[in-house]
Amino acid sequence: MTSPLKDRLIAKIKAEGPLTIAEYMTICLLDPVHGYYPTRDPLGSDGDFITAPEISQMFGEVIGLWCIQTWQDMGRPATVQLIELGPGRGIMMSDILRAAKLDKDFLEAVNVTLVEASPALEAVQGKTLGGTPCPINWAHSLEKAPTGPAIIIGNEFLDCLPIRQFIQKDRFAGRAGWQERMVALEDDALRFGISPAAISESLQAILPEAQEDAKNDELLEVCPASAQIIDQLKQRFETDRGRALFIDYGPAETEFGDTLQALKRHDKVGVFSDPGNTDLTARVDFGALIELAKAVDLSVTNAVPQREFLSKLGLEMRAIALSRAKPESKEKIARQLHRLTGTDEMGELFKAICFQSDNLDLPLGFRDMA
Ligand code: SAH
Repeated sequence: MTSPLKDRLIAKIKAEGPLTIAEYMTICLLDPVHGYYPTRDPLGSDGDFITAPEISQMFGEVIGLWCIQTWQDMGRPATVQLIELGPGRGIMMSDILRAAKLDKDFLEAVNVTLVEASPALEAVQGKTLGGTPCPINWAHSLEKAPTGPAIIIGNEFLDCLPIRQFIQKDRFAGRAGWQERMVALEDDALRFGISPAAISESLQAILPEAQEDAKNDELLEVCPASAQIIDQLKQRFETDRGRALFIDYGPAETEFGDTLQALKRHDKVGVFSDPGNTDLTARVDFGALIELAKAVDLSVTNAVPQREFLSKLGLEMRAIALSRAKPESKEKIARQLHRLTGTDEMGELFKAICFQSDNLDLPLGFRDMA
C-alpha cells in the first residue's frame, strides 16, 4: 500500500540517507500535512485506540480529586496553573473540572493550559471544554505555558514521544559496541537497518544504566524528548511549587527489547505499513525516567501500577456511588472498572509516576519516593 507520506519518506531517505526511529516517528506523527495527529481525531471506539479517560468518566474524576489534594498540599496558592500535556479530546480535563466543583476555592484558583501539537485535536478540545467555568488556554510546549505554582498532568502522552533504538553488537566492546537502529530502504521499500559504525560517545551517555547488562543483539530504547521534559520540570520546580503526574504503559524498570508499535482500528499493524495513517507508540521506560530525574536532582516517586494508584484515589468508591445513582448502568460501570484496574487489562501494564518540587510530601496514590 502506498501513501503520500510513504512516498515522501522514501524520497527523503534516497536523498539524505537513513532516518533514526525518532525522526521517522516525528514525521509520521506530527507532519503538518500528512502526519497522524494533525490530520484526525484518532481516539475512541470508532478511532484507532482508546484511552482510560475515554473508557470511563471515573478516571478523570479521581484524577480531579488528586489535583485538589495536590493544590492543598501546595498550600492552596491563589492561582494554580493546571497544565495538561497531550489532552486528546479534552475528556479527562472536563471530568477533572467537574470533580473540582467539590472545592470551589480550588476551581477559582485554576487556570487551565492545554499543550497540544494537533490543530485537529485542539478544535475538539475547544468544543469539549466550551462550557467550563475556568479559563482555558493553549500553549505549544510546556516551556511556553504560564509560570507559577503548577499541577502538570499527562495521560498516554509520553508513549507517543519519539524514541531512538540502539542494539549492542559487540558486548566485549562495552559502550563502544552500541549501534543505532535506523529506518532505511531495501528495494525501494522502508525497512529497518543499522548504523554502520558505533554510536558517538555523547549518544552512549544517554543510554540507561541497564546498558551494562546487555548481551549481543539486545536492544535498548531511549526517549530524548522525555529527558527534555524532565529537565524542564527540574527548572520549573526550582522556582515554582508543583507536581507533574504521568500515567502511561510500560515497565517499572528498564527492559530490553523493541516495543515500537503501530495501531490501526485497535489492531497492531506493521510500523511501515501505512506511515501517517497509523498510531505509533513505544512503551515508557519508567526506570529510565527515574534515573534521569535523579541525575538532575528532581524529586520523583517510584512508579506504581494504575490499579493501585486509582484504588488509593477511591476509584472503587466512585464506582459504587455512580452505580447507586444509575442502577441501570451498574454492569457497564463494573466493566469499566475492570478495564481500568484488571491485571489482565490496564491495571498492571499502566503505571503512574509523579515528579515534584522539593518540600512536598509523598503525593496521594504513591507508595514511596524513588
Ligand atoms: N491524553 C489523551 C490523549 C492521548 S493521545 C487521552 O488519554 O485520551 C496523545 C495526545 O498527545 C494527543 O492529543 C496528541 O495530539 C498529543 N501529542 C502527541 N505528540 C505531542 C507533542 N509532541 N506535543 C504536544 N502534544 C502531543
